[in-house]
Amino acid sequence: MTVIGIDGDDTLWRNEEHFRAAEEHFVAIVGNYYDGDDIADQLLAIEMGHVEIYGFGVKGFTLSMIETANALSGGQVSAEDIGRILELGHDLLRVPIELLDGVGDALEDLASTHQLLLITKGDLQHQQRKVEASGLATHFDDVHVVAHKDPPTYKSVLDRHRLPPANFMMVGNSVNSDVLPVLELGGRAVHIPYHMTWAAEVADDDTHEAATGFTTVAHLRDVAGLLRPAGEQL
Ligand SMILES: [Mg+2]
Repeated sequence: MTVIGIDGDDTLWRNEEHFRAAEEHFVAIVGNYYDGDDIADQLLAIEMGHVEIYGFGVKGFTLSMIETANALSGGQVSAEDIGRILELGHDLLRVPIELLDGVGDALEDLASTHQLLLITKGDLQHQQRKVEASGLATHFDDVHVVAHKDPPTYKSVLDRHRLPPANFMMVGNSVNSDVLPVLELGGRAVHIPYHMTWAAEVADDDTHEAATGFTTVAHLRDVAGLLRPAGEQL
């Protein structure tokens, strides 16, 4: 019996475009102080440098925007602009949930034959609110908001459900977060590409091509077909 783990952001609901829209506003604000065209790259570098202490999510992103603005402006960024940057973060935390097309029906279908776990990474409260607002929680046997999506984290989730990796299949939009660590553990994975991927989640081509044993489908509704009959087709 396969238990299916399903990612939230950009697998069930829109996420990445909200971050990129906030980043565009941020680049415009900092552009008043800094001439280079690498503002977004600098932000990403600062963000990644702090992942170990901030974790993933809006709050770390917001603090990193403030730090980047301060650094690139040489300490000249105005209090008013810091306020604007904070507001970008607040807006991200309040953006209404927007489900991807057809995911409710697809989950209902999958849940009729398999146990489902929602496994999502980010700020605890924000992810919990998104799960609640999505109205999708009833399809899941359990919800795990995790700090990282690495092999040890997946292992601890599986251990809590006394689930051997061979009986687990993860479904999500990120090769780095949803596919590779699960393959490494001996589980199965299905990649559902989203039309945009955060730079830090983009698997480099070598890694991507070296990874075998996972399937790519266009939509969550295609996953049920992979499991018939008796989950032996993957
Ligand atoms: Mg995702």
